[in-house]
Amino acid sequence: MRPVIIAANWKMHTTPADAADLATTIAGRTNVGDVVRVICPPFVCLAAVRAALAASPAGQGVGVGAQNIHHELSGAFTGEIGAPMLVGLADWVIVGHSERRRDAGETDELIGAKLRRALEVGLRPILCVGEQLAEREAGTAEAVVGAQLAGSLAGFAEDPGALAAAGLVVAYEPIWAIGTGRTARGVDAAAMAEAIRAAISGLGPGFAALAPDLPVLYGGSVTTASAGEFLAEPAIDGALVGGASLKIEEMAGIVARAGLTAAARRAAAGARG
Ligand code: PEP
Repeated sequence: MRPVIIAANWKMHTTPADAADLATTIAGRTNVGDVVRVICPPFVCLAAVRAALAASPAGQGVGVGAQNIHHELSGAFTGEIGAPMLVGLADWVIVGHSERRRDAGETDELIGAKLRRALEVGLRPILCVGEQLAEREAGTAEAVVGAQLAGSLAGFAEDPGALAAAGLVVAYEPIWAIGTGRTARGVDAAAMAEAIRAAISGLGPGFAALAPDLPVLYGGSVTTASAGEFLAEPAIDGALVGGASLKIEEMAGIVARAGLTAAARRAAAGARG
């Protein structure tokens, strides 16, 4: 049974003071059994969010994630954050977000190096993939996403099991749906989630072993109103939420909907014995 995960990407919003308050309030309003919750604030807010969640009874089960890491562990990289610096501050890390591919020119190879760094320090990675609108309209979305996966996971050909051991999560985020208010259709996102598992399976036997259990999230303008369309799909295991994740009522609604999916999965697993 795959977990149901709701991850909040706060992007470049909040200060340490308001991030701590927002995190504890969201934690208190989203305490739904069986849903894995993760909050990814800006780097400078990680310590405050971590401490606030640890100090709050409702915050105990909420994971903290970074939004990025550098592809080297340390070195002369002014202004960058290496994975070892996050130990004790974060449990998760987003890699390959489309805004970083767009703004920082991140390539699949570089993203693969970041994945490796995440694994080296024990961070659980959320690998983002997704196509441009023109690529979807041209019918090449699955090929584009498949190439992103092949490029970023190529460095794991010798040890794909390390990705499973690290709890790799893939977030399918069609670029045209991020921050635009547009969403994919649930059926299309579900088809892509299965295509992602198939593409990873195709990378080799070790990859095929991890694909069925790989959590795949949908991201792209998810709100309380749209969450059900994605969370009703058995192939989709949760959401990576951007803009709406800064709004308490939105997060409460999205996680409540995720709780229904998690409960249904648990009941189905129980019925199967
Ligand atoms: C994101 O930042 O990953 C995201 C999906 O953003 P939004 O929900 O705002 O589209």
